[in-house]
Amino acid sequence: MVKAVRGMRDILPEQTRRWHQVERSILATLASHAFEEIRLPLLEYTELFARGVGEATDIVEKEMYTLADRDGDSLSLRPEGTASCVRALQEHGLLYNQTQRVHYSGPMFRYEKPQKGRYRQFYQIGAEAYGFAGPDMDAELLLLAWDCWHALGIQDRLRLEINTLGSSKDRAAYRDALVAYLEPIQGQLDEDSQRRLLTNPMRILDSKKPETQALLEGAPRLPDFVDAESREHFEKLQQLLDQVGIPYRVNANLVRGLDYYTRTVFEWLTDDLGAQGAVCAGGRYDGLVERLGGRPTPAVGFAVGLDRVVLLHELAEPKTAFAPADIYICVLDESLMGTAMALSQRLRSHLEGQRIRINIGGGALKKQMKRADAAQANWAILLGDDERDLGSLTLKHLRNAEFGQQRLVWQQALDQLND
Ligand code: ATP
Ligand code: MG
Repeated sequence: MVKAVRGMRDILPEQTRRWHQVERSILATLASHAFEEIRLPLLEYTELFARGVGEATDIVEKEMYTLADRDGDSLSLRPEGTASCVRALQEHGLLYNQTQRVHYSGPMFRYEKPQKGRYRQFYQIGAEAYGFAGPDMDAELLLLAWDCWHALGIQDRLRLEINTLGSSKDRAAYRDALVAYLEPIQGQLDEDSQRRLLTNPMRILDSKKPETQALLEGAPRLPDFVDAESREHFEKLQQLLDQVGIPYRVNANLVRGLDYYTRTVFEWLTDDLGAQGAVCAGGRYDGLVERLGGRPTPAVGFAVGLDRVVLLHELAEPKTAFAPADIYICVLDESLMGTAMALSQRLRSHLEGQRIRINIGGGALKKQMKRADAAQANWAILLGDDERDLGSLTLKHLRNAEFGQQRLVWQQALDQLND
């Protein structure tokens, strides 16, 4: 038997219920903030991510699924959504002289070490805003995320950390200062950090190695390099968060793995998922559009890790009823199958949102009732010769003995089923 590829898991019917619930809730919150959906391809030219995400990031260096198209072009499965989003808006002329508030969702692909909450195909919902330079949009996005957690009932399991990286000039100055500090002692750094010293030195701050962290103690500090304007931006953001009552903590060591961030960065973290603590991450990336060939356009956004949100939702609400059907139609005579199908059609048009399963494959009444039970339906409809003209229906309530079995005229039957 051929098995699923490592890190690419199946989401089975019993779980898709919860996934729908979570996705619907987040999409409804996005809609309530008047963000609009954009759908993006899974494959892009590799160059898009090399430029957009950054050559020296873990994602581009070692996590991408890259393949050659039949004509030799290098394509990659998207490891994240922001680069594609910028590419699409830019390509369709939707950035220049206008603002955009969009969201995307779907699978992302990264070659990582699979474990609980970390997969090679995983799912994100992202929200991004373009053309807004001020901290008010940073706050609006954080409020949007906060509203998502509330709608899902997981707000108490998440905490917000924020930081500012300053302008790209500040970042460059800090980078130089950090390199100047680390170069003389580079022999003592771990292997990964030695490599990063040449490619992406700020990522060394992210190192989990205690020896490296010890070496960093006397290093120049990022907040000392942040310019007045970025500091003001950051202060205004904090004021807004205070005013709307979103709790947060400033973490001066929060840098983010991706290359493109400027000014605000943030993460929503949980202690409930072991090592996979980040549930949503984002920030401002005012330089990205230009870097991908467009005119300078301020941008800010975040991505929610859906797999992890679903795990949190499971903790918050362990039991969700999983019933495949609401109504089960038993067909008591083979010659009534056509009538039964017509009935199911008519019922579906009158009973919005109810899931109606029709007995397929014949069988004695007892067997059909067993199937109705297995489908955990509330109602069985018994269709026999007497109901052939559909003027009346025989309903059996499968969970309410008091109702038992009753023959009702059509409208009465509908009223019962709608109840
Ligand atoms: P991590 O530190 O966990 O690797 P990241 O910084 O690489 O996360 P981002 O690129 O910022 O993650 O993606 C945003 C969110 O997507 C993360 O906060 C996380 O919830 C989720 N995510 C990222 N990679 C994975 C993965 N391999 N499996 C499941 N979820 C993921
Ligand atoms: Mg990662």
